[in-house]
Amino acid sequence: MATEIINKQLYDGFIEPGRVFRNIYFVGTRPASTHIIDTQNGLILIDPGMPETLGIVLDNIKELGFSPKDIKIILISHGHYDHAGATLKLSKLTGAKTYIGKADLKMVNGEENTSLAELFGVQYTDFFTPDVLLEDGDKVTLGNTTVLCLSTPGHTDGTMSFFFSATDGENTYTAGMHGGVGTNTLTADFLKKKGLSFSNREKYVEGINRAKKQKVEIFLGNHIGNNNTEEKLKRVARGEKNAFYSPYEWQEFLDGRIKHLNLIIAEENAMQTTIDTVIKEKIIVIVRGMSNNKILPFAEAAYKGGIRLLECTYDATGNTPDEEIASTIKILAEHFEGRMVIGAGTVLTEKQVELTKNAGGKFIISPDTNPAVIAKTKKIRLGIHSRSLNPHRSSCRS
Ligand SMILES: [Zn+2]
Repeated sequence: MATEIINKQLYDGFIEPGRVFRNIYFVGTRPASTHIIDTQNGLILIDPGMPETLGIVLDNIKELGFSPKDIKIILISHGHYDHAGATLKLSKLTGAKTYIGKADLKMVNGEENTSLAELFGVQYTDFFTPDVLLEDGDKVTLGNTTVLCLSTPGHTDGTMSFFFSATDGENTYTAGMHGGVGTNTLTADFLKKKGLSFSNREKYVEGINRAKKQKVEIFLGNHIGNNNTEEKLKRVARGEKNAFYSPYEWQEFLDGRIKHLNLIIAEENAMQTTIDTVIKEKIIVIVRGMSNNKILPFAEAAYKGGIRLLECTYDATGNTPDEEIASTIKILAEHFEGRMVIGAGTVLTEKQVELTKNAGGKFIISPDTNPAVIAKTKKIRLGIHSRSLNPHRSSCRS
């Protein structure tokens, strides 16, 4: 299973290496970005990636006409496996010095099991002690390049963002990479599971606001999705030299990350409100097979009678299309917003979970225990009604 996951990422994952801008090159993979900077006095490499993809990274470096032996400095954006996992192997191979944010030492030296290697179906065993533990504002120089390292924690405690100048001898441009913008480590579920502080969310926002103050004309992604790396590399390959030059993208991207975190928090709060309502009200009225023109008078009557939770069931026989049930949920959710919580019942498929969410439904009830449906419900942060809450559900048919 583990090998399958990794191989899938490897084979689906090949990206043609190429020049990003002037002396900056992309040599990474789909699971995580790797960049090299040609400083005229050796290479700086940012993020070695995973041991499983190191062979690809080394081939990419050679394909661009460089020698891995010329890597003198390995900068690591943060200690997660997909960025830092191959560091030990690469440093042994090249003799390069390794640098990581001080607070992520515990992730890479094996002190703490927080590298997220399990997400890739593997165990992190290539632990190492970095040569240099970076602190906020440190500068790392090699050849013609000085990299400013700014502490931007949140994704991990030691996440570092990198800023440096790229010159072609005539003009100088500023390049920048945020070292970790993933909100996957900031969900309530993750923070609770790992015993982490919710203040990491504030640190994340602070760090992003600090990074935003940096002028970045060449925006480097630490995953290819951050800056559309693949599409831009193709444009460069077609002869467009400045495909990565986009002076406004940096700010927009970082603003988008804060909005994304705020959305997660809002959805989590809404989910908690639903769960609290189920616990408090204890009664969910079920509506099944009722036409849309009868539904509102009925639901208003139920509301006047004190009902605060209403469930519309999907039709397990398939006679009524899922979309029709979802349209009923939408009518109810819009009409009763803030007054009554509307959800879906007899939910048997992931599609029905998605339809419910899009219709404004707030909870999912399933007659079975389907891990895929539960996972989907959790992923899009709908409140799950657990049968162990044991509310009284009364059914109404027309
Ligand atoms: Zn990460």
